[in-house]
Amino acid sequence: MKGTAAKGLKRNKGRLHIRCRRCGSASYHKIKSVCSTCGYGNSSKLRRYNWHKKTVTKKRIVSKIKRHVSRRKGNTFKL
Ligand SMILES: [Zn+2]
Repeated sequence: MKGTAAKGLKRNKGRLHIRCRRCGSASYHKIKSVCSTCGYGNSSKLRRYNWHKKTVTKKRIVSKIKRHVSRRKGNTFKL
């Protein structure tokens, strides 16, 4: 929202993060429209850092995304 919101609006009725379309975790920010787990909305590549071992070795997320991508053909997606 623009400007300083009223205090009641700041909380956004409890849920700021909803389920992500790409990785399935509930870390998709409603307002920013960016996923904090896989980076969906920010980039077509998967959000990962070398200092974070879990995401580097996390195969579950990668396989989930691949499944999602394979459903839509003609999608240009890189990991
Ligand atoms: Zn995600």
